[in-house]
Amino acid sequence: MEKQLVLKTSGLQKKFGRRRAVSNLNMTISEGEIYGFIGRNGAGKTTFMRMIVGTAFPSAGKIELFGGERLSTARRKIGSLIETPTFYPNCTARENMKRFSTLFGGSEEDIERILATVGLADTGRKKVKSFSLGMKQRLGIALALLGHPEFLLLDEPANGLDPTGIKEIRDLILKLNQESGITFLISSHLLDELSKVVTRYGIIDKGVLVEEISREELQEKCRQKLMITVDDPQKALEILSTEIDPQDLSVEDSTIVITSHFNDAALLNQLLCARGVMVSGLTMQSYDLEQYFMERIGE
Ligand code: ATP
Repeated sequence: MEKQLVLKTSGLQKKFGRRRAVSNLNMTISEGEIYGFIGRNGAGKTTFMRMIVGTAFPSAGKIELFGGERLSTARRKIGSLIETPTFYPNCTARENMKRFSTLFGGSEEDIERILATVGLADTGRKKVKSFSLGMKQRLGIALALLGHPEFLLLDEPANGLDPTGIKEIRDLILKLNQESGITFLISSHLLDELSKVVTRYGIIDKGVLVEEISREELQEKCRQKLMITVDDPQKALEILSTEIDPQDLSVEDSTIVITSHFNDAALLNQLLCARGVMVSGLTMQSYDLEQYFMERIGE
């Protein structure tokens, strides 16, 4: 069965004066996805998210939520952490949750369950003003969970966090996705920090969505590859398949692509030459995620 579309934008645009912050942006997110929205600071991520939740008005284009429900109804099923929430600094996590639940809903049991989910159930009498940034981020997510959202938008949730804080946020996102089936749109200016949870990436540059790519496609692109360009690829393939597992071998035009034996480049070259195959190029390709991202945005 085809999954329901949670979000579909068509030609979405936002101008500030003559400047386009978001330009003709088409994005679809299906139920259950964790969509990583990647772009430099100022690329337009926040503006896009604000249009989805309704705190910014599009200059052009269309937003469909949950397969085309009325936007005002559909937005009740969305939670977000876009601007840093203004907490009550002299109150505890639980007291903050109680105060916000009068606005966003949520029973006593909901509050206890959510605090346990985000790992803040045992913070006792500690006031929010002495929370770490990571704890504040988790409290922000806790507030966003009060309305039982099916779709959660998080703007740079890992910003400023140390590696432990980033891991806690990642684990929380995965838990909410797997146990409660929440769909996510998460922005970041770093590709790597989301790579362990994201199922699909959208790369935005100067307001334009320059690429959408699944986690598997990205992993494949970033895989290490040894590439040997030869005059007779069929013959080269026959020779190499006596040494290399066929599933690590493929041909792209006149180049043999090998995804193992990275330390044997010289030997493989020798083997091919000895059997009369001319080698005109031998290169190693290895991207890391950050490098891939930089290349896509033309850095
Ligand atoms: P960051 O992570 O730094 O927030 P971003 O990718 O979320 O970056 P936006 O905040 O959406 O980017 O900003 C996109 C562009 O729109 C920027 O050039 C920004 O200066 C501009 N912009 C955003 N909000 C406004 C506004 N209210 N008035 C004028 N320009 C704005």
